[in-house]
Amino acid sequence: MTDTPADDLKPSFRGDVTVELVKHTASDADVLFAARVSTIGEQSLDEMGKDPERSKGLINYLMRDRHGSPFEHNSMTFFISAPIFVFREFMRHRVGWSYNEESGRYRELHPVFYVPDESRKLVQEGRPGKYVFVEGTQAQQELVGRVMEDSYREAYESYQEMLAAGVAREVARAVLPVGLFSSMYATCNARSLMHFLGLRTQHELAKVPSFPQREIEMVGEKMETEWAKLMPLTYAAFNANGRVAP
Ligand SMILES: Cc1cc2nc3c(=O)[nH]c(=O)nc-3n(C[C@H](O)[C@H](O)[C@H](O)COP(=O)(O)OP(=O)(O)OC[C@H]3O[C@@H](n4cnc5c(N)ncnc54)[C@H](O)[C@@H]3O)c2cc1C
Repeated sequence: MTDTPADDLKPSFRGDVTVELVKHTASDADVLFAARVSTIGEQSLDEMGKDPERSKGLINYLMRDRHGSPFEHNSMTFFISAPIFVFREFMRHRVGWSYNEESGRYRELHPVFYVPDESRKLVQEGRPGKYVFVEGTQAQQELVGRVMEDSYREAYESYQEMLAAGVAREVARAVLPVGLFSSMYATCNARSLMHFLGLRTQHELAKVPSFPQREIEMVGEKMETEWAKLMPLTYAAFNANGRVAP
């Protein structure tokens, strides 16, 4: 038996992702006190905020010379809602990350599915490792929207049919596609986030270019916006040093 109200069983389609910063203890000062313990021991806390120019210089030096550990003494927790194929890529990031995701065993999965919007380039040109994406034609865009929606509807009907017949959620979910939205909390620190951003965003300042899938980049861009507000000096140093995690 399904335990979800009838309205929630109607498939809905979206082409964006959700990223919310739900909890944080993260500031540039967290980097500074951790770094200064090297030279002034327990007095490093008293030194905070005394000389902003020196602080900026120290953060830049740490970033440039890849002294990474001072960037770990902070924490950011994000709520993320995105398609399952994004989460598969996301959870490859093992170091400095904690994850908790909604369960397809313990709850009935809601029918929210990913369909790219018009801004998503549809056609890949060139060879692997050296390709570009270009806009699709109108016909390709219509095809993608129609085929995806039809296929999602059919898959979700099959899921519902099995639940209605008493089949366990963990068995019935096998028919659901990777375009289904899931949600999770992901907690990281500035160092692990920088490593993620270096790999999962494309940026003109990147010393080492990466070619991430657009949908995980959309998540990365939203996380980056939140992080930049919390740690502006660290963020500026990350960009100034080629967006390579220290
Ligand atoms: C554009 C792109 C394409 C990709 N394509 C594929 C693909 O086709 N198939 C696929 O399977 N994956 C693919 N990946 C995933 C990729 O291989 C990494 O798993 C992912 O980017 C996470 O990076 P990471 O291991 O550096 O991060 P983390 O797991 O967070 O690790 C951070 C760092 O810790 C160190 N580290 C972590 N674990 C170990 C370990 N076991 N041994 C030694 N050092 C370790 C490394 O220095 C590592 O860089 C792709 C990633 C990108 C960005």
